Amino acid sequence: MTDAYAPADLPEKIQHYIDGEFVDSLDGDTFEVLNPVTNETYVLAAAGKKADIERAVAAAKRAFDEGPWPRMVPRERSRVLHRIADIVESRDARLAELESYDSGLPITQALGQARRAAENFRFFADLIVAQADDAFKVPGKQMNYVNRKPIGVAGLITPWNTPFMLESWKLGPALATGNTVVLKPAEFTPLSASLWAGIFEEAGLPKGVFNLVNGLGEDAGDALVKHPDVPLISFTGESRTGQIIFGNAAPFLKGLSMELGGKSPAVVFADADLDTAIDACIFGVFSLNGERCTAGSRILVQREVYDEFVERYAAQAKRVKVGLPHDPTTEVGALVHPEHYDKVMSYVEIGKGEGRLVAGGGRPEGFPTGNYVAPTVFADVAPDARIFQEEIFGPVVAITPFDTDEEALALANNTRYGLAAYIWTNDLKRAHNFAGAVEAGMVWLNSNNVRDLRTPFGGVKASGLGHEGGYRSIDFYTDQQSVHITL
Ligand code: NAD
Repeated sequence: MTDAYAPADLPEKIQHYIDGEFVDSLDGDTFEVLNPVTNETYVLAAAGKKADIERAVAAAKRAFDEGPWPRMVPRERSRVLHRIADIVESRDARLAELESYDSGLPITQALGQARRAAENFRFFADLIVAQADDAFKVPGKQMNYVNRKPIGVAGLITPWNTPFMLESWKLGPALATGNTVVLKPAEFTPLSASLWAGIFEEAGLPKGVFNLVNGLGEDAGDALVKHPDVPLISFTGESRTGQIIFGNAAPFLKGLSMELGGKSPAVVFADADLDTAIDACIFGVFSLNGERCTAGSRILVQREVYDEFVERYAAQAKRVKVGLPHDPTTEVGALVHPEHYDKVMSYVEIGKGEGRLVAGGGRPEGFPTGNYVAPTVFADVAPDARIFQEEIFGPVVAITPFDTDEEALALANNTRYGLAAYIWTNDLKRAHNFAGAVEAGMVWLNSNNVRDLRTPFGGVKASGLGHEGGYRSIDFYTDQQSVHITL
């Protein structure tokens, strides 16, 4: 059933894509996909099980063992990847429209994510051609060089926040390096993933190289992780799911890349440019509906400017425009799913007992239905509070004061997570020392969340295992065989 917000030409059903064909699940099972504004089912998607994963892995393995893709020279694969980037770019508006409808993300932000997806393909298309491998000589004695080889069938498991972009982040390097893939996208948001098949066919990707199986994590995702013919799993999602996957992959000693949850601090020192810091801290937790792994969801503010910061921040949070996802003026749309809405709202209630509510705190006015949460700000939050420690993954932020640099660092590091950190200060020495000491895979100094694709991406502690980005992605998706020759 479609609704007043539905884009034109929505698919009638969402299927798997295996060995170059759109197919239903072998047992015919489906699951319901909801529009986050109405919470009505707008389409049924094929619910993949072990048998469907087996079919997809067999196709991907055949394409790897017998097909041209792993044997092409990088330049040839690069051309296909550039064509993929061209197609994604040329359809960015349509992709954004569908993504925004399916996920509840504001349309302008969904458009940015679609363009980033194209950029991911373009970047890895260029990188694979520029790739140089090590060669070492011991004069007169020995020569050593490296053969870099694709590994096989890569299992890619992705979450529902910015689904299309995060899929591209794995598909780009996995394909550039000559692997074949089985993608299991998030069950809340399968719409945009179903578009890859047409894009890849048009770009000339050989049959069987890309396979897509929809379904629940505990069925399709689980079967992919446990399949013996899938030597690599790249996973993005919750830390708890990462732990389960880690355990299930252990008997097979699979290669794992894990991009997990976060509770990242934004640390604002008294000497910071407050106007810029406030703007960035608003963007850092309310963009993408707060459903952002690197969200600066704990703001630590030095005591001298604390009261001013809280007052101005709360006032600005109240001005953030909540609206329908397809409205170009919307800054916060609807959360992805009623289950996630319930989780975020439960934290809003917990927060009322743990901090001082200074903005939001429930449904925004004018939105009696749908998964809408007003941008919510709690001040004076103690470090042992659940809203300080636990990932909420919605438009909810905790603010905590500090006095000294040492205290700020201790507070910043006082969670199980270690994905990102944002530091605001005009003291250069302090900024670099803090960056070096904070337990975070990625640090932004006086900067919004912008990232060059060549840099490492990943977290420490419970936020992840391994890094992707630039050459690190190429390393993850390839075996590096060293060859030694005595001269
Ligand atoms: P999730 O862990 O619930 O699900 C992610 C994917 O894993 C989905 O496709 C799901 O079906 C699958 N899955 C679930 N159980 C599985 C199992 N037992 N075996 C195999 N697959 C399984 O995460 P989510 O709720 O979709 O996404 C939100 C989370 O993702 C947040 O914690 C967020 O921080 C994290 N995230 C991290 C990054 C990063 O780069 N570090 C980026 C985006 C999102």
